[in-house]
Amino acid sequence: MSLQNIVILGTGGTIAGTAASTSDNIGYTAAQVGVDQLVAAIPPFAKLGPFVTEQVAQIDSKDMSFEVWARLAARVNHFLAQPDVQGIVITHGTDTLEETAYFLHAVCRPAKPVVLACAMRPATALAPDGPQNLLDAVAVARHSGAAGVVAVCAGTIHSALDVQKVHTYKVDAFDSGDAGPVGYVEEGSLRLVRNWPVAHAESAQIAIKMIATGVIPAQWPRVEIVMNHAGASGAVVQALQAQGVRGLVVAATGNGTLHRDLEAALLQAQAAGVRVLRATRCLNGRVLPTPGDVLPDSRGLSPVKARIELVLQLLAGN
Ligand code: ASP
Repeated sequence: MSLQNIVILGTGGTIAGTAASTSDNIGYTAAQVGVDQLVAAIPPFAKLGPFVTEQVAQIDSKDMSFEVWARLAARVNHFLAQPDVQGIVITHGTDTLEETAYFLHAVCRPAKPVVLACAMRPATALAPDGPQNLLDAVAVARHSGAAGVVAVCAGTIHSALDVQKVHTYKVDAFDSGDAGPVGYVEEGSLRLVRNWPVAHAESAQIAIKMIATGVIPAQWPRVEIVMNHAGASGAVVQALQAQGVRGLVVAATGNGTLHRDLEAALLQAQAAGVRVLRATRCLNGRVLPTPGDVLPDSRGLSPVKARIELVLQLLAGN
């Protein structure tokens, strides 16, 4: 299979960032270098033939939005539908990479690989990590049998369902928690340790169709995240309810526990028609449901991924 069958979509991030000094790994501006330039800067790619590249966005991923996601999903679906496309690589910032991964996995549910590539150091760094990550991402996209949305960072392949950013500056910044990674990229070859990710069957069908066909909702249902902590109250929930919030994800403590005042406010909001999901602020593990739970748990999704799931469900009218 020729490398012409790999599409590389650019969205910005530190991988496309520049700093004034090569020794500066943190004082940079993200999203400065075009995806074509990123690809051209990787010598092994020159021998392997041209890629289809497209700049879908050029942003610091801290500013990611549903509008960009909808555009990205539409382009991903467009290329996935082409029989000669083997896989898609997306260059992306690390800050919200796990959210984009979950969104694309839920909405596009690709049978082909969609691989997010990122970097913790800007393109101008003395030892940038972006080129190796991009090279590794292409190796994953070309791997026969690869499927679903994954992220590649520091030689490790993470599933969209499990990946989380866990470090603020180290190049190996991602983790898959209890599930562990899908595999590793070793000198261009893959060593797989578990299956490729499969999207939840209950993903919101109407939302998927709307986004896939490019019909972008005028208004995305507002879903906010609130956190349980010592001294938590119901004030934030009440304020959001007064503003017409449609859904709330609570980043609960431990196995889904909530301060009694916050719990009372959430129960009241749920009774008034606000959709509520209970996730945990713990990095590992999931909220284990118990009989009689009134506030449903997030079925293992982290707070940020549960928020996306709730937006899609509300969009679908579920
Ligand atoms: N703020 C940057 C971004 O998410 C961080 C990064 O890419 O590492 O776009």
